[in-house]
Amino acid sequence: MSLNPFATVAEQIDLSPTVSDEVKTTTCYMCACRCGIKVHLRDGRIRYIEGNRDHPVNKGVLCAKGSAGIMNHYSPARLTAPLLRVGPRGAGEFKEIGWDEAMALAAEWLGKIRRTDPRKLAFFTGRDQSQALTGWWAAQFGTPNYAAHGGFCSVNMAAAGIYTIGGSFWEFGEPDWERTRYLLMFGVAEDHDSNPIKIGLGQLKGRPADRRAKFVSVNPIRTGYSAIADEWIGIRPGTDGLFVLALVHELLRADKIDLDFLARYTNVPWLVVQDAGGASDGLIARDGAGHPLCWDRQRGQAVDALLPDVAPAMVGEFQLADGRRAMPVFQLMAQRYLEARYSPDEAAKVTGVPAATIRRIAAELAHAAFEQQIELEIPWTDWAGRRHERMIGRPVSMHAMRGISAHSNGFHACRAIHLLQILLGSIDCPGGWRYKPPFPRHTPLALKPAGKPGDVKPNTPLPGPPLGFPTGPEDLLIAADGTPARIDKAFSWEAPIAAHGMMHMVIANAHKGDPYPIDTLFLFMANMSWNSAMNTAGTMAMLTDKDTASGDYKIPRIIYADAYFSEMVAYADLVLPDTTYLERHDCISLFDRPICDADGAGDAIRQPVLKPDRDVRPFQDVLIDLGARLGLPGLVNADGSAKYPGFYPDYIVNHERVPGVGMLAGWRGTDGEKQCVGERNPRQLERYIANGCFWRYELPDEHRFYRHANKGYLDWAHSVGFITRPTPVIFQLYSEPLQKFRLAARGHGALQPPDRLRARIDAHFDPLPIWYQPFEEAAVDGASFPLHALTQRPMAMYHSWGSQNAWLRQIHGHNRLHMSRQTGERLDLRTDDWVWVISHHGRIRVQLKLMEGVNEATVWTWNAIGKRKGSWNLAPDAAESRLGFLLNHVISELLPPQPDGHRYANSDPITGQAAWYDLRVRVEKAKPEEAGETYPAFATLTPPRGMPQRPAVLTYGAEFRERD
Ligand code: SF4
Repeated sequence: MSLNPFATVAEQIDLSPTVSDEVKTTTCYMCACRCGIKVHLRDGRIRYIEGNRDHPVNKGVLCAKGSAGIMNHYSPARLTAPLLRVGPRGAGEFKEIGWDEAMALAAEWLGKIRRTDPRKLAFFTGRDQSQALTGWWAAQFGTPNYAAHGGFCSVNMAAAGIYTIGGSFWEFGEPDWERTRYLLMFGVAEDHDSNPIKIGLGQLKGRPADRRAKFVSVNPIRTGYSAIADEWIGIRPGTDGLFVLALVHELLRADKIDLDFLARYTNVPWLVVQDAGGASDGLIARDGAGHPLCWDRQRGQAVDALLPDVAPAMVGEFQLADGRRAMPVFQLMAQRYLEARYSPDEAAKVTGVPAATIRRIAAELAHAAFEQQIELEIPWTDWAGRRHERMIGRPVSMHAMRGISAHSNGFHACRAIHLLQILLGSIDCPGGWRYKPPFPRHTPLALKPAGKPGDVKPNTPLPGPPLGFPTGPEDLLIAADGTPARIDKAFSWEAPIAAHGMMHMVIANAHKGDPYPIDTLFLFMANMSWNSAMNTAGTMAMLTDKDTASGDYKIPRIIYADAYFSEMVAYADLVLPDTTYLERHDCISLFDRPICDADGAGDAIRQPVLKPDRDVRPFQDVLIDLGARLGLPGLVNADGSAKYPGFYPDYIVNHERVPGVGMLAGWRGTDGEKQCVGERNPRQLERYIANGCFWRYELPDEHRFYRHANKGYLDWAHSVGFITRPTPVIFQLYSEPLQKFRLAARGHGALQPPDRLRARIDAHFDPLPIWYQPFEEAAVDGASFPLHALTQRPMAMYHSWGSQNAWLRQIHGHNRLHMSRQTGERLDLRTDDWVWVISHHGRIRVQLKLMEGVNEATVWTWNAIGKRKGSWNLAPDAAESRLGFLLNHVISELLPPQPDGHRYANSDPITGQAAWYDLRVRVEKAKPEEAGETYPAFATLTPPRGMPQRPAVLTYGAEFRERD
């Protein structure tokens, strides 16, 4: 008996009850982050999903989406069998067919194309995580018309990074969460790098007072991460580049830059030819061997800038041996950014950020970088063989995503951020922003896009991948007369560095037959008639439009692969039903976007946790089977038999790009003891599964920083095939490839743009970052369309993937238009009012919610919540369809007409990135009789026969209770 009369009896609670018969590891796919999960199974059903504590991406953390994967798996929106269209396209009338018939049909359609003109296949995929396979497959087929979702997501960010620092944010790099003292985040939605950022921010916030870090979020909207920032800067959309260049102005003015870092690791000392009007004006001065030159202060002459003992002049004007004048990049840079137009006072007028705030942020950055310097006692050797006793850190880190990227000035804005990082010396140093292997890579990358007219031949693979990184006009995919070679016009004069393609233009161009008609549009998990389309109503009309003379559809055939009854299914002629992510093998490969972190390289797989209970097949299996039927050389043996009869798992293990290098880097070699390079290991997948479905190689301490110049790391990265040569990666603050395009626009070289495009290229292909007004804003009347309109992605939904998820729908079943309270008052609008949102392209009717924490010139809503009636097997009167809406309806894929009538794509002029966030609107109160439902509404879709009845009441879990 207790001596303490107040003691309570200790309750016996089992904190870890056994909930499952079996636990299988795999990789989450409820968003793009690739967290490790453990799936608990009971009686052959999924009981529970848990984060894998050993996994390098999420370390056990699981978000709402990840745990709700159960409802995606058991969704009544899952397609159940291959479908063949029997009614008019768009009506959703299908008959179920068997896989034999479906595959034979697809092989017949595609075989005809491949035998005659392979570019008539346009193969585009969504956020599919298997681009290492799909891009390779397209090249094997021989079509240049391939891309994934990157062109409408964040190619500006990726390309700007690759062309500047040989890496990029998110999948290619991350803040040093442990050591950074100042984090500056730009335009980040809650779903990108979701769990790692949450973990990282938790680390920052949990620091002891003496190591506290400041987190500043620059975003027009204060949701998600911005809501927990120490300082929120509610910038006007599309002006981030100017804000950053004003910070650069301040740092230069105050002489708070890391000159030593600039001299050692960047092209800032390189000499730029000054020959106004000449063919070499603005190019880097080079010696006979092609090496860049700098002016050596000790030798008093121009010398190879890559010599280790060089003492480069950073300012001045010098005469080259051939008589031409040249200036160091630094001089050009300083001249430009010290101009008054980049001063905080001028930037404040455009960005809405007070000049005093810009000055203070610049001072804070400088303080963190130079007054809070970190030193790690880790000796290392640089590329020139110089030993350093310690690693110096400038603990300022940055992160940026789609909010910066999805503007028509996004490429330069992203380059400006990298410029700022470099000036502070905070790239890949302790406390700074750090690369994830296999990055950094040499910039510009040697990988060029294939698909020039001579590359495309019947029955012949392309000589290289369809996507790449052009470095001059000679790399463009254009015909002799300048006509684009690709259906999306990527890598043409309209978007020369469209490194991820231009998916948002495919349907519009194919419908017009511009630059040529196609035969088959083959899409995989890309909801291109709805939330992945600009101009949704127009897109639906294009997909169903017929040639008046022949009566044929203008896009003759559409094959669509998806696991769910999305809005796009109704427009397919042939539907190939995919599995859920818990029913198949996948490969998160180093060839694509792997799961590396700054301290280690890694890749991962998915394994089937359950067998499909429907007549569906993994799309990757289907693609490999289809390729074998078509006789694609990489997919058949010499005798014509299938090379990978075990389909995707077989391909993952046995396919090699070069001898010893395959889809997975872990447990290679016949005994599984090699990594990165080694013979095929038939038991490789078993080894992955035994390790929780991932592989990770931890870098030694001396390889963790300064990897752009770290000899030990560069040698290792070269030995495992991450880089093509063990030489330093020199940051390209001055981008010579851009200048080459600009010179062409100025009339130099054999390849020049059409006259119509000369001024546009001349203006935008500036080799140093610039800021200009986003195109739509510049084209429309500001008084008629005074507001910016944006979408944000919520933490609990990823694009439309959560649409059918019974649990996640309860969090985001419908969406509102959010507006600042002050703006609402000015417009005499209140929460719950129904309003019209009107752009130059169209109008939508939506319900309003006023709030704090949003830029006053901005309205916004959650992305992809609105659903077409009946789609995703939702009830026709579901909240998503009555009260939900898309901004896509008022975004055009084309900009307003130029004076000559030409309409450019609504894109960045350099990369072709879809400019979703350039949208300008006005908001007007709807009439009382218009209230009640969102507009537009489209005809209700009927789920294909054979799909399960959606339950009126969700009973998931009842079966487990019964057993308990
Ligand atoms: S962050 Fe993404 S990948 Fe990770 S658990 Fe959540 S949904 Fe899954």
